[in-house]
Amino acid sequence: MNPGEKILSLEQMDQWVATEKAAGRRIGFTCGSFDLLHAGHVQYLGAASELCDRLIVAVNSDASVSRYKNPLRPIVPQRERMYVVAGLAAVDVVTLMEEDRPLSLLLRWKPDLYIKGGDYAEDSLRSADAVKEYGGKVAVVKSGFETSSSRLIERIELLSAHAAPDNALDQGVQGLVLLDRDGTLIRNVPFLHDPAKVEILPGVIDGLLKLQAAGLRLAIVSNQQGIGLGYYTVQDFVAVNQRLLRELGARGIRISKIYFCPHSLGEQCSCRKPSTGMITRAMRDFAVAPEQTFLVGDSDDDMQAGADAGCQTVRVGEEGFGRAAEEVLFRASANFKV
Ligand SMILES: [Zn+2]
Repeated sequence: MNPGEKILSLEQMDQWVATEKAAGRRIGFTCGSFDLLHAGHVQYLGAASELCDRLIVAVNSDASVSRYKNPLRPIVPQRERMYVVAGLAAVDVVTLMEEDRPLSLLLRWKPDLYIKGGDYAEDSLRSADAVKEYGGKVAVVKSGFETSSSRLIERIELLSAHAAPDNALDQGVQGLVLLDRDGTLIRNVPFLHDPAKVEILPGVIDGLLKLQAAGLRLAIVSNQQGIGLGYYTVQDFVAVNQRLLRELGARGIRISKIYFCPHSLGEQCSCRKPSTGMITRAMRDFAVAPEQTFLVGDSDDDMQAGADAGCQTVRVGEEGFGRAAEEVLFRASANFKV
């Protein structure tokens, strides 16, 4: 069976539930984000299916995962998460859960069993009382594995932190170049959130290649007030970066890290340029001194932030990024014999 055939809309689910109930089958319901499906999920869904005749899995929408877990999650989009869950033999039907909690779906379909995985005590289940009220039962399935999506992500982070030194490192890190994004590397589009509108500015590719060849590490420091103001999401920002990194990567340029401030001016954070939070964090991460660090940007705020952090600042002016890169190289060669 094509897993896609197991994915039903709420209205299709109404019909499906009615049919299964009429046939006298015992219906189980469970839900979750199922981001990065792992052995714990498979074991728990298998155990859940043994408690009932038919198992419904409601998969949290992308928006709900972002709300209740982490604004950067999920890693896998809802359409694909639903498809993967539907591919498991233990699962009979999959639907999307837009709300953070399953209460309204439970009341809509009144399954015989509400099944939850992990270490949830039955009492702590917010929806348990509602299920018992209509005559249903609550079951908790203990996980037999230590794995979780969060642990997988931590492990991936650990691995990437232990990656073998790249060429730039082999030559010795001569310094760090912190690059503003909008108006410096790519054309400034107000509240940019569409990857299709990413346009790398003239001189950027060539300039970054030269900086990199000189043993300078590259990172981005970007104010993204549009996130704080609600004009676009962290995911939109990441998608734009992905486009940029892909284009730069194809030309052999490696951006080591992207620092961003998601706050609005009104939030008075310590990361938004001209504050120095992102810059001091980058210098700490890369273990470089302020004198070894260059801030390249196109605005007063960039220059102010760089200067306040004790870095060297280079402004991208009318002559473009190429000229600014030359200036960095000139100063770097004077300072540390690149
Ligand atoms: Zn901030």
